[in-house]
Amino acid sequence: MRQKLAVRGVVQGVGFRPFVARLADEIGLAGHVGNDETGVFIEAEGNAAQLDALQRRLVDEAPPLATVVDVRVAQVTDRGERDFRIVPSRHVDNAARTLVPPDTAVCDECLAELRDPADRRYRHPFITCTNCGPRFTIITDLPYDRPATTMAGFELCARCREEYDDPADRRHHAQPIGCHDCGPTMWLETPDGTVRGDGAVLAAARSLLADGRIVAIKGIGGFHLACDAENPVAVARLRERKHRPDKPFALMTADPASWVRLDGESAALLASQAHPIVLLSALPADARSSALSGVADGLDELGVMLPYTPLHHLLLEAGPRLLVMTSGNLSDEPLCFDNDDARARLGAIADAFLMHDRPIAVPCEDSVMRVGEPVRRSRGYAPLPVVVDGDGPDVLAVGGEVKNAFCLTRGDLAFVSGHLGDMGSLESRRAFDRSVGQLMRLHEVEPRVVAADDHPGYSTRQWAQSYADEHGLPLVTVQHHHAHVVSLLAEHHSVGTPIVGLAFDGTGYGCDRHVWGGEVLVVGEDVGSFVRAEHLAEFTLAGGDAAVRNPFRIAMALAPGWEPEGIDPAEIAVVRSQLESGVGCAPTSSAGRLFDGVAALLGVRQRVSYEAQAAIELEALARAGREPYPLDFTLSDWAPMVEQVLRAKAAGVPVEDLALGFHHGLAEAAAEAAVAIAARAGIDTVGLTGGVFANRVLAAQLRSRLQRAGLGVLTHRRVPCNDGGLSLGQAVVARARVGERIT
Ligand code: ZN
Ligand code: ZN
Ligand code: FE
Repeated sequence: MRQKLAVRGVVQGVGFRPFVARLADEIGLAGHVGNDETGVFIEAEGNAAQLDALQRRLVDEAPPLATVVDVRVAQVTDRGERDFRIVPSRHVDNAARTLVPPDTAVCDECLAELRDPADRRYRHPFITCTNCGPRFTIITDLPYDRPATTMAGFELCARCREEYDDPADRRHHAQPIGCHDCGPTMWLETPDGTVRGDGAVLAAARSLLADGRIVAIKGIGGFHLACDAENPVAVARLRERKHRPDKPFALMTADPASWVRLDGESAALLASQAHPIVLLSALPADARSSALSGVADGLDELGVMLPYTPLHHLLLEAGPRLLVMTSGNLSDEPLCFDNDDARARLGAIADAFLMHDRPIAVPCEDSVMRVGEPVRRSRGYAPLPVVVDGDGPDVLAVGGEVKNAFCLTRGDLAFVSGHLGDMGSLESRRAFDRSVGQLMRLHEVEPRVVAADDHPGYSTRQWAQSYADEHGLPLVTVQHHHAHVVSLLAEHHSVGTPIVGLAFDGTGYGCDRHVWGGEVLVVGEDVGSFVRAEHLAEFTLAGGDAAVRNPFRIAMALAPGWEPEGIDPAEIAVVRSQLESGVGCAPTSSAGRLFDGVAALLGVRQRVSYEAQAAIELEALARAGREPYPLDFTLSDWAPMVEQVLRAKAAGVPVEDLALGFHHGLAEAAAEAAVAIAARAGIDTVGLTGGVFANRVLAAQLRSRLQRAGLGVLTHRRVPCNDGGLSLGQAVVARARVGERIT
């Protein structure tokens, strides 16, 4: 038998062809393998068992950096071939192009060479091979070849060239390779001048960090701002200069077990190719190496990552044990990734710059993960493709306004971009433009439809409108929570499966122009529409955004007789009169805001400095609870809960138990609503989506209640439950709405 196999996915620049050749040899198949614009093509000849083995092992044993999206098989006539060969790349007209590999942490083999004094790349800060290093962030065009990367300006020396050309070498066709002679270089810019020479640079950077200074370090997808995390003065200085008073900082350490609780799964996630930031339970203060004041105050979790570039490894081998490694930007602005831009925008924050001369084509933030669940999907994952069900026109979906990521579809693949952050600033919009342009170019997609959120005030919606006008394309706007639910369906390949979607988040523009966020939506076979079956009973946001920044305002709306402690009476009077007159007030059904309000009632926090801070701290408090205090309420009537909370608090019930009781009570109320609606509609699947489900206590409680009721439960595994996952849902809704009309 002879078969033609077309392998789609991340299969170029990752050592896939030699892998297939080796596999064919082992199995005893004849034929050939090669690259084309769609991926890898194979022809294989042998018996049925051998061909089956090939198909299975192609996926199961794929090289570390490969992601196989699918394998299409066709029977062809035998040729009686004997051997198996790698054949030259071929060109396919009008082909759907191949996929771009993500950036990957330095591999073990390269690390061993980095530490081997006999190796010619000993201590080379940019050591890389076919199995590791930068990819997505250095690619300017496809096909993925050195001239189409930011390594184009570094000419390979004779010895590197030899490795590059040798099919048996680990660096065969590894585009970013170089060495001390021909590769990128690093240097340190300080107020006293520039330090050069790798050894001197590392020593100077370490001593600045040890002195409590802030160093901007250029990495793979952009700059980090680093300081010694064990030095509270340095951490406080960074917070002040970055205008980031409380939001937790990410940490980098080669020894995470000294700071956080690790198990097999979390250790594997930390060390996976992407080397993401992983949110993990902090060891109790007395069990860890030091107290870490100012890093993540009030929280019981730390975001930790391992060093992932050779430069990080060199820096940490003798430097501080634990570094703050936060994005190189001012609060709410996009990441700096260009040397000049970094000098200009980070000059007032960093005391020194650890620079290098390998340009970054497109910025990419660190990814943030929990075991089994993405929080921010970016470096190491972007642009990971999701196969979407059914056919439809190519769509550009622009996402939401915060935690933005956009989505571009091509045929049955959806590419969700890396994290672009908040779209409030001009810089963010420029970064958005640039990333959209790059992804369209790399995938040769001309969208036929543009999709955006319903919210007329979102800058992404405005961007989408002008893009659509300019290109004469239809604009489809999608209700925020509808997009959340459909994104969940899409990532589970369940588009068309009727679902009761619990979409709980901080805010989203509702069909009645109210602020939604505690929604129970029913989406049927047609994902283009939905029914709002139930929602959290509305309460008042006094002063709109002011209520978001000051949870005590929400608490005052929930409990009219309640007085916050430590707040200026004049401000309380203003809020009271706003609540009475309704001036500047907005009704909301937001579950996120209910969390804020309850946190204020419990005295957790009256004002916040970052989104969801009060809710996150309330969750941490709940985890410290022993006995959930019983609170009995429903989505359509939370008032009894507020009364019970106030009474119990006055009676001296520990706030931890009340926090835990609130989580259990809300889970019960949501489950009750979902179960009833599912029964009425004859639906057996419930989905949990929206940023509130980053709350693990709530998600776990709700899941177990729904499962006990015999319902299937979907939660996010591939795209975040927060607005980072919104664009995938928008794209799929848009395809469903206009697909028939324009394809
Ligand atoms: Zn390597
Ligand atoms: Zn070289
Ligand atoms: Fe949302």
